[in-house]
Amino acid sequence: MKAPFPKFKFKNDAYTRRRGTPAMLMISCAGCNQLVMGYQKDGPGPLLRCYLDRIHYPTDLSSLQHQEFDKDAFPHLVCPSCQVVIGTVMIYEKENRPAYLMRKGFFKRKKVY
Ligand SMILES: [Zn+2]
Repeated sequence: MKAPFPKFKFKNDAYTRRRGTPAMLMISCAGCNQLVMGYQKDGPGPLLRCYLDRIHYPTDLSSLQHQEFDKDAFPHLVCPSCQVVIGTVMIYEKENRPAYLMRKGFFKRKKVY
């Protein structure tokens, strides 16, 4: 992606209110530094899961939230450059919410705003 990172509008819903102030993160590949996605993290703490409905960039990932979820058909989160698997498809049962289970050590996060 070309700099600067676009100014996405934060989603502000019940999830956001439950977890706290959102931040926009750039998630990049730990192995090759490729930008993987722009992600809205609601509230503080480690990044264990990335919910599909908080992905703002790129379009091929952010559009997944509008498709009917199929755990076996959805692709894992893969670095577009070196193809390493960064997150695996899961459903967060407590909220019945599709997400990627993030692989510790395979990604870097940077707060953009
Ligand atoms: Zn990579």
